[in-house]
Amino acid sequence: MASGWRKSDEKQHVVIIGAGFGGLACIRKLRKSPSYRITLIDRNPYHLFAPLLYQVATAGLPEDDIAFPV
Ligand SMILES: Cc1cc2nc3c(=O)[nH]c(=O)nc-3n(C[C@H](O)[C@H](O)[C@H](O)COP(=O)(O)OP(=O)(O)OC[C@H]3O[C@@H](n4cnc5c(N)ncnc54)[C@H](O)[C@@H]3O)c2cc1C
Repeated sequence: MASGWRKSDEKQHVVIIGAGFGGLACIRKLRKSPSYRITLIDRNPYHLFAPLLYQVATAGLPEDDIAFPV
């Protein structure tokens, strides 16, 4: 129906599953384009910076230093 048509309907909807390194890198690229509407899905509400996981495990860092809300 023409009256319900919105500009955003013209965008392609991209669903990215996983807010890890790959998912966030993908979003950083795609969000620069006005052609996409992006939905990010993750089982957790945060990105985990896994390379520093061992420092948290050995009490060298608090856990919120390696987990960032997305
Ligand atoms: C302890 C450790 C140290 C590391 N050190 C290094 C390093 O020094 N240098 C290096 O280059 N690499 C390192 N890596 C490897 C690096 O972390 C991975 O290569 C990288 O995270 C892979 O990115 P990814 O996006 O494929 O997956 P991930 O970063 O693992 O992201 C996957 C995302 O998908 C989500 N997800 C998974 N399954 C589902 C589901 N069913 N539904 C919804 N969401 C889901 C997860 O919650 C997660 O957020 C290390 C890994 C670990 C564990």
